[in-house]
Amino acid sequence: MQSPIKKLAVLTSGGDSPGMNAAIRSVVRTCAYMDVEVMAIYRGYQGMIEGDFVLFNARSVNNIINKGGTILKSARCQEFRTPEGRKKAHEQLTRAGIDGFVVIGGDGSFRGASIFHKEFGTPVIGIPGTIDNDIFGTQYTLGFDTALNTVVEAIDKIRDTASSHSRLFFVEVMGRDVGHIALNAGVAAGAEEILIPEENLGLDRLLDSLKRSKKSGKSSSIVVVAEGDKTGKNVFELKEYVEKNLPVYDVRVSVLGHIQRGGVPTAFDRVLASRMGVRAVEGILEGKTNLMVGIMDNQIVFTPIDEAIKGHTKIDRELIRVSDIMTI
Ligand code: ADP
Repeated sequence: MQSPIKKLAVLTSGGDSPGMNAAIRSVVRTCAYMDVEVMAIYRGYQGMIEGDFVLFNARSVNNIINKGGTILKSARCQEFRTPEGRKKAHEQLTRAGIDGFVVIGGDGSFRGASIFHKEFGTPVIGIPGTIDNDIFGTQYTLGFDTALNTVVEAIDKIRDTASSHSRLFFVEVMGRDVGHIALNAGVAAGAEEILIPEENLGLDRLLDSLKRSKKSGKSSSIVVVAEGDKTGKNVFELKEYVEKNLPVYDVRVSVLGHIQRGGVPTAFDRVLASRMGVRAVEGILEGKTNLMVGIMDNQIVFTPIDEAIKGHTKIDRELIRVSDIMTI
């Protein structure tokens, strides 16, 4: 059956993540392959409201698969949270003859897309792009694998200096309210302790563990702390607490910050982005709407956007166990 959709749009919205460009490329090339026109929307929903659109073709996305960030720019747009702002956006899409869109972003972007879909019936598919890996309906979000590798590389470097000076380092990593980056990076980089929001380790257990570590002959230690961890108020307070209660340790703090968001996407993220982009366009042409593409057991699957927004991802308990065993 011929799809009534003749022209699609693609945008990136909210926090950027490595792999977004690979997803843009995939959406654009799949549209070209399917003989559907495709418009790029710049600056997320802000650009949608302002009509910041450019007609793309297969060649418009040359040489971007290997680039971090997003060539379309991203934005946080307050106006899109208002019915008036969304009405303006709808008028711009109608004027440009756009029949539906693919939004690459996080749960905020999906919330906006879902409300827009309910108000105007515009077909929409979401591609999860965030380094935090905190979106229900997919085992991996775009950018998570790249961010994880960036963090592991950074901790490896920190370990070099930590061991030269017999120091204890608290390394804070991103992840808002979830500990996926912290847990995976902690295991991969051989951290002595991993503090994540899902498990409140407690300060006493942390001290016990550090004491044990010292006793067992370890001269330096790395503790990975997710930014949303609730054990201490923040990494600097953790440092003060440990210095006060375990003066044997010379403690330092490293907050990795925005380096985790940038960089060349890994092969995993590029492949995932390419697969998700293809299915997003195929899905919307098949009449699917208000869905998010995700990956489960290496299969590309669709989840209703409303479930993706409401649901919570679970921390991998087996990894916690592995980490406990490794830090003997
Ligand atoms: P992310 O997509 O990374 O979670 P944000 O939470 O900043 O990032 O959301 C991106 C954009 O999505 C916001 O700037 C806003 O334009 C839009 N958005 C988020 N929540 C809503 C909402 N409840 N209603 C309408 N638009 C929203």
